[in-house]
Amino acid sequence: MTSKPIGVAVLGLGNVGSEVVRILTENAEDFEARIGAPLAIRGIAVRRVDGDRGVPAELLTDDPAELVGRDDVDIVVEVLGGIDIPRKLVLSALEKGKSVITANKALLAEYTGELADAAEKSRADLYFEAAVAGAIPVVRPLMQSLAGDRVNKVAGIVNGTTNFILSAMDETGADYAETLAEAGRLGYAEADPTADVEGYDAASKAAILASIAFHTRVTAGDVYREGISKITSDDLETAKSLDCTIKLLAICERIVTPKGKERISARVYPALVPLNHPLASVNGAFNAVVVEAEAAGRLMFYGQGAGGAPTASAVLGDLVMAARNKFYGGRGPLESKYAKLKVAPMGDILTRYYVSMQVADKPGVLATVAAEFSKRDVSISTVRQQGSGDGARLVVVTHLAADSALSDTVASLEQLDVVVHVASVLRLEGTTV
Ligand code: NAP
Repeated sequence: MTSKPIGVAVLGLGNVGSEVVRILTENAEDFEARIGAPLAIRGIAVRRVDGDRGVPAELLTDDPAELVGRDDVDIVVEVLGGIDIPRKLVLSALEKGKSVITANKALLAEYTGELADAAEKSRADLYFEAAVAGAIPVVRPLMQSLAGDRVNKVAGIVNGTTNFILSAMDETGADYAETLAEAGRLGYAEADPTADVEGYDAASKAAILASIAFHTRVTAGDVYREGISKITSDDLETAKSLDCTIKLLAICERIVTPKGKERISARVYPALVPLNHPLASVNGAFNAVVVEAEAAGRLMFYGQGAGGAPTASAVLGDLVMAARNKFYGGRGPLESKYAKLKVAPMGDILTRYYVSMQVADKPGVLATVAAEFSKRDVSISTVRQQGSGDGARLVVVTHLAADSALSDTVASLEQLDVVVHVASVLRLEGTTV
């Protein structure tokens, strides 16, 4: 005897939604066998209901709120995008006890707390594997597989657009603007690339990862953020000469302050990464996340971080979990926020810097520059002098120091007569010295 169907509302039929509906439809029997009951798509919400959308026309609606409220909808899949509209829809679904699967990192990075509270109250599931790194399972491993461990660090490449651009700049030697335009032509960058190239998308994902890893609510506003739009082809050349490449990293880390207080850090910026670090070989639009846990040691997750079908894979994994819970009873893990750790300001974080500056070609420059570092207790690891005359350059790589000391040093370098201008400042990650 066939069990009663579990009703699913799909909100959105774009890149992700259309793949969710396709795979659900094509593999309906497998889904039923895996869940124990069939899934029935009750409706698909879109803005534009006219024309051939590749799905039965009677399923389409431009009234997502009505669809969410229907009695025969048990689970809501939110793949709309935006914040305000999905927030209302997801909240209303959760308040009615309907489980929600969302791929919406921007929404979660602002409102996980509110949504998780609503889910907890009505005992509904809230799943969001697809919101971080597309197809790559990283949310569930952190939340469930590592629930018995202590995660100290999560660092990764979580934005495919910026990784595509940086990899292409590294490979071709082309400059940023030219490579961004090419990424747009190839479909790797959106018409307005700001959210990707300025690091907002990665910051949302960092907030989600930090919240789960450290059992603490972290929002996008807590994440320190710099994008890649100032990276030049010269930076990539210099990186190569230092046996490094440049990656936009999202880093979430437990730290202990000099006063012995436990804090967390969540930050996104382009950084030099040594070529022998596992993240250095993650190229093109691929994503990777490295997790360091006390007992498990280092784990690495790698794969397609975006795209309709890969993202749908993560959404559908969540859908199967939520549907099984509906069928057998029980529920997924609750939000874990007990640790309530404070987020440390960026200035307190220990980082290494690479500073490239155009300098006057005269004796004593090196000593003058070195003195600025030493005044702030910033120890220099290597110095390189390149070129001569108007092209004279100094490239300094520091040891670990407080980020505030490093940025003060750079500010003072800019005031020196012997420094024509500070051409580039980047952090160096993936080393510990
Ligand atoms: P998309 O291609 O722009 O599709 C959005 C869909 O939502 C469209 O079908 C659109 O309808 C519908 N929609 C938007 N606002 C609506 C409204 N107010 N009422 C009814 N329908 C509405 O977006 P996407 O790339 O699939 O992304 C969806 C979500 O997944 C986003 O939160 C995104 O951040 C997340 N995500 C995407 C990827 C990816 O690779 N694309 C990866 C990970 C996560 P029309 O078709 O009629 O315009």
